[in-house]
Amino acid sequence: MVDLYVKNGKSVTGEPLEVTITDGKISAMGRALTVDRAKETLDVAGRYLSAGWIDDHTHCYEKLTLYYDDPDEDGVKTGVTTVIDAGSTGADNIGDFYQITRSKKTNVLAMINISKTGILAQDELGDMNRVQWEPFAQAVADYPDFIVGIKARESHSVVVDNDVKPLAKAKEYQQRLAKQLPIMVHVGANPPELKDILALMTKGDILTHAYNGKPNGMLTDQGQVKSFVTEAYQKGIIFDVGHGTDSYNFNTGEVAIAAGLIPKSISTDIYHRNRENGPVFNMATTLEKMMLLGFDLATVIKMVTAAPADNFKLSQKGQLKVGLDGDLTVFEVQEKPKQLTDSNGNQRTTNQVIVPTQAIVAGKVYQTEVEA
Ligand SMILES: [Zn+2]
Repeated sequence: MVDLYVKNGKSVTGEPLEVTITDGKISAMGRALTVDRAKETLDVAGRYLSAGWIDDHTHCYEKLTLYYDDPDEDGVKTGVTTVIDAGSTGADNIGDFYQITRSKKTNVLAMINISKTGILAQDELGDMNRVQWEPFAQAVADYPDFIVGIKARESHSVVVDNDVKPLAKAKEYQQRLAKQLPIMVHVGANPPELKDILALMTKGDILTHAYNGKPNGMLTDQGQVKSFVTEAYQKGIIFDVGHGTDSYNFNTGEVAIAAGLIPKSISTDIYHRNRENGPVFNMATTLEKMMLLGFDLATVIKMVTAAPADNFKLSQKGQLKVGLDGDLTVFEVQEKPKQLTDSNGNQRTTNQVIVPTQAIVAGKVYQTEVEA
């Protein structure tokens, strides 16, 4: 018997859409389904229905003191069905993180920090003794379904005097592993120089905070895209938003998109502080900012579903397809003005407000807590 019948929905392109979920997987899809019996029926009353949103840059290991959150606060309560923690933990503490997250409603996955301590302090890569192959490789072997990538934070306060040495180690470890894992690289203040960071990255690696407004970002002082950034994009480095407290600038986004440097994936870099006080708040707000760049609804939803699933090789997620995981996000788009603020305090007004109403994880329905 069908576990959940989601009726009266519409696709991101506005077509009627109904979905059933059985044993945690999508079991049928169509414009109008005939369902004899379902354990639960959810009438979404004409709202949009997409694959479950995936946020591929979050910080949700609750035992830290710097960047932390409860995964469900960033997850199902905001319409996000899968959060990928971006290197909050390393070999020392990723096992504990794994155990804690098993009881969460939201799917939680993790990138392992190249520093074995994770982000215990801001300078986790200031001491190269924290970068060790044995514990790293052991953790990757111990948590094969949990660890989906490697995180290297390459900004001055993190690496101190180590420049791109931690990233070079991450690249070495990536090649030594039998399993292919992408590396996500955080960028910010220099040194290390963005140019040297991008030179080490290869196709399929992910540049997060790509659209920041810092001097070591993608734009020159004259406001043009640096040529080595365009070359990095052309060689297949993935540009990811990673909004964060300090890392999304409206002008950078606008110039980059005009130059063809399209983000593949949209992520928030959310943790309790930028969730509660902004400028991030939640994924829906980040999607609204991306729509201001001219992307339509179907495009931004792909950037938070199929694209992050592809970044991290999550073959069972990110698409509405029979047989894949029964994760869905239900949302509406309201036409009303809303002021949006970037990481540098710049403001823009949108007229398209995205309000998630339910997150469905493996056929279980959770009401969101996002204000309309
Ligand atoms: Zn982060």
